[in-house]
Amino acid sequence: MKIKEFKIKKSAQKSWSEIFQNPRDIILESFKTGSVKINRRGTINIKHPHAGYIKDQILNVPIISHLIKHNVFGNYLIDAGLDAMYTYDPYGGVKGKFADEFFQEKNENIGFHLKNNRIKLEGIFLSHLHPDHIAGVRELPKEIPYIVGKGEIEQYQPEIYGDFLKDIDTLYEIDFSILNEIPPWGPCADLLGDGSLWAISTPGHTKGHISYLINGLDGPILLTMDASFISDNLRLKIAPCDYTEDITLAQKTLEQICEFLLEYPEVKVLSGHELL
Ligand SMILES: [Zn+2]
Repeated sequence: MKIKEFKIKKSAQKSWSEIFQNPRDIILESFKTGSVKINRRGTINIKHPHAGYIKDQILNVPIISHLIKHNVFGNYLIDAGLDAMYTYDPYGGVKGKFADEFFQEKNENIGFHLKNNRIKLEGIFLSHLHPDHIAGVRELPKEIPYIVGKGEIEQYQPEIYGDFLKDIDTLYEIDFSILNEIPPWGPCADLLGDGSLWAISTPGHTKGHISYLINGLDGPILLTMDASFISDNLRLKIAPCDYTEDITLAQKTLEQICEFLLEYPEVKVLSGHELL
């Protein structure tokens, strides 16, 4: 797989209030592609000083792929969710003791949703490279660009967790370090160049983790992706610790998300394993 830079122009906008004054004709539709069992202890970091008592409770949460429909630039996915391999095999055909266990009803796979809605895709943006976010790539078109945050590929371990990206020829990386900062975040990427869809660097869960913001006519929507697993992470202001690479950084990122939401109450927010 070749790695190339995803070319983005620096945005002229300096603040989110300026961006939100120019919403675009862009729509979000989210698909459940399966589900996964996670423990509340770990979904909320039990070692956080304000965590208090957190129940040992299994939560069954959706595995999601988001479809973005832009009236001019066409359709994009944010994350791939799961492919149909999981309908009859909870390990999706991945062998070995580190294969993740997911659950899927028939016709929940991302390929089915796209076919059923007659969706032609222009590209796929990925939040990070964990299996529940990329397994669906196996049944998606390969001739379109696949885009991740810079540094994400360095920790990808296909031999252990499954090689979901094996048929992709070129992976494009967003280099946030060359983009303008938009407070309270660091650098942000105006992905389609018209202020409609933004990538925001939110490291911690993984090194190159990205959250996305859709600046649509019905108001802005922030997709935290796995920077927050469930709405309780945001409510309690405590990041997850399970499956998380750098827990301290993940907590800092989560607090930044909370700060952003406080400053811009018009923003709807969706956590990584939560549907609207
Ligand atoms: Zn993840």
